Amino acid sequence: MGYSVNDIREKIQNYPRVKLIHSPTSLYKLENLTEALGGPEIYIKRDDITELAFGGNKSRKLEFILKDVQNKKADSVVTWASLQSNWCLQTAAAARKIGLIPVLVLFETYDLPEFYDGNILLDFLVDAEIKTREAEKGEVVKEEKVQEVMEEVINEIKEWSHLPYVIPVGGSKPGWSMEKPYGAIGYVNAFLELADQVEEQDGGMDYIIHASGSGGTQAGLVVGAKALRKKTKIVGISVSDEKESFSKEILDIGRETVKSLGLDIPLERDDITVMDDYIGEGYGMVTKEVAEIISYVAQKEGFYLDPVYTGKAMIALVDLIKKGYFRKDDRVVFIHTGGTPALFPHKHQLTEYLIKSLA
Ligand SMILES: *Cc1c(COP(=O)(O)O)cnc(C)c1O
Repeated sequence: MGYSVNDIREKIQNYPRVKLIHSPTSLYKLENLTEALGGPEIYIKRDDITELAFGGNKSRKLEFILKDVQNKKADSVVTWASLQSNWCLQTAAAARKIGLIPVLVLFETYDLPEFYDGNILLDFLVDAEIKTREAEKGEVVKEEKVQEVMEEVINEIKEWSHLPYVIPVGGSKPGWSMEKPYGAIGYVNAFLELADQVEEQDGGMDYIIHASGSGGTQAGLVVGAKALRKKTKIVGISVSDEKESFSKEILDIGRETVKSLGLDIPLERDDITVMDDYIGEGYGMVTKEVAEIISYVAQKEGFYLDPVYTGKAMIALVDLIKKGYFRKDDRVVFIHTGGTPALFPHKHQLTEYLIKSLA
């Protein structure tokens, strides 16, 4: 059975939110890139410009999550991720905006020459409580390790916080204080928004391509497309995880989302398309290809990709085009999921690679 945009909007309205962002975010055609690559038609949805902090996909998720934080009368918001996390910055800024204290646990999954740079500088300016912890480089932090560290941190802050609300990294997979897949619900909503915009520009979307990290963005988009019975294929470009286990993770979040919204749609492993060929040297590792694509797109279109997520997703898009994955008249929407503050702490690698390739 299929649902209309309004049917699904009604279901989403069962979950109230705090207003944190400006929407719809803009959607437009990348004329120069489309021409340079010789088709398909490439569009971009600018979820990097959401107006919370420096923008990004986490803003949509946090609108739903922070309402739950308010409802539960917590006085602090605790979360974790790696050092230059966009998720942590967005969470910190959103928490402050509604009068709560943000506590961030940052795992050192890579080395950076300067500490107060990029997102960490911004975390500092919004006066988040920052706690750093050692971690293996280029790896996703293991669940047991997270569990252990978070318990220790929660005990520590219970001295001053009467009720901390702990949000799992990425904000989509229920766990800790969060009982619903709010982040993914935010991206079901984003799919509806996009469907409306595309409708106005008369024509469907054949593909959506975006960087996939914790899976909530992709799970939400897939559920949206499936519920509206759209032909749109969602292609997630993994920035860290191997595709089989990650697809399963996305499927789990997707099913959780279907259940939470009370939708009657089947969701299968085949509905999830993840590619893990573009991780490069590992999560957060900047390669020459990443530096080159960021510079190339900036020159063609006048906006910036980030080195950890969208740079890798764009490498994938260009590579897939070259391999003939799309038809010339397909319409492909690239979602810019944000992350640009991470350009700055990676300035040494970015400039080094580009200077070498120019020499
Ligand atoms: C978190 C993030 C993603 C991945 O989103 P998920 O919902 O975690 O998969 C993509 N791009 C940027 C810039 C991000 O910060």
